Amino acid sequence: MRTIVAGVRLIDGVADAPRGPVDLVIDGDRITEIRPGTVLADGAPQPDTLLIDGRGWTALPGLIDAHAHYTFDPTEGSLQAIAARSDDAILAAAARHAERALQAGITTARGAGSIRGLELVLRDRIAAGLVSGPRLLAAGLAVGAPDGHGSAFGVEASGPMALAAATHSLIDGGADVVKIVASEAAMLTTTGHAPGRLVFGRPELTEDEIRAIVEVAHDWGRRVMAHAQDSESVMRCARAGVDSVEHAWLADEAAIEVIAATGATLVPTLGVTDVNRSLPGLTPVQRERQDLIERRHRASAEAAVRLGVPLATGTDTGEVGVTADHVWREIVLLEAHGASPVAAIRAATSDAARLLGIGADTGTIEVGKQADILCVAGDPLTDLGRLSQPRLVIQAGRVVRQP
Ligand SMILES: [Zn+2]
Repeated sequence: MRTIVAGVRLIDGVADAPRGPVDLVIDGDRITEIRPGTVLADGAPQPDTLLIDGRGWTALPGLIDAHAHYTFDPTEGSLQAIAARSDDAILAAAARHAERALQAGITTARGAGSIRGLELVLRDRIAAGLVSGPRLLAAGLAVGAPDGHGSAFGVEASGPMALAAATHSLIDGGADVVKIVASEAAMLTTTGHAPGRLVFGRPELTEDEIRAIVEVAHDWGRRVMAHAQDSESVMRCARAGVDSVEHAWLADEAAIEVIAATGATLVPTLGVTDVNRSLPGLTPVQRERQDLIERRHRASAEAAVRLGVPLATGTDTGEVGVTADHVWREIVLLEAHGASPVAAIRAATSDAARLLGIGADTGTIEVGKQADILCVAGDPLTDLGRLSQPRLVIQAGRVVRQP
């Protein structure tokens, strides 16, 4: 059956300015026509067509979450506590998070590592239509150093050879993307999960180790996403050729310049520090750390915008308080840190699709692309917060949410 979303204003993820009204014609899973004007004007019958009145709405490409942990639990910060649950319990919860994301207009997501690699199972269930959720590209398990930040959701190895072998085994096991943990996680001192420790996001891998991982991943056609937080770890990752640096919360301007020079994308995960600010019960020490991290994080993201570093939205959902629908929040925060509204939307659509290597298929609204579409009322460019209230969500031609 054919679907027409009629009379919408269009932000296609390509042009700088919106256009319309247009009719978006969808056949099967693809956008087959974008027609100026609207069939609703003359009321001509449209046989065998699901006609959706989109007047007053703006259509944009389905959103992309480039950093998601659906197997984690936004109400539970301890990965050890989650790991004690059964696979079935973790997967049932992960399916609910994925459904929530899709209902929020997130039609594609990238899994950034999971308890026991279970996001690969979630990915396959979504692909098979057993679970409703974003199309998932998954790392399964992260790769990192022994006893490093990734040890609860990754494999550990030491030295370039061993890390290269570990990377190879993850790819053999079905990883779509390689996630590396190249530094400590500074957030742990504010969420209280590293009691008595001050964590600065310092390096956990050497540049040679990162390079060895990148080489194997790229040889096998996989992109590399790197958790890195302080300046040194960010520079090592960028110089070693990762495709995206995740977080860079404590990176100074010189480190952001290195990212800019290599052309890597930054996924700043701004929502995490934004949410952490309002966590209840912070001790004075945690509060002080939180304020410091937030200041540095803001400066890092603002430098990236100013220096023209490619950006993509990633929620890091699964972190405490960060629910699976939060891509809209990343977009709002990108604007607050200096990006134009249209650039902030591209970071969640066309630019994110390019980072994931699926730009030929999704991330824009163009004829021939998959019909991944989100509609909101009014003009999101004047109020990006409107993206939190989707009216219509279509994924690969299937209407998954409508009024
Ligand atoms: Zn993460």
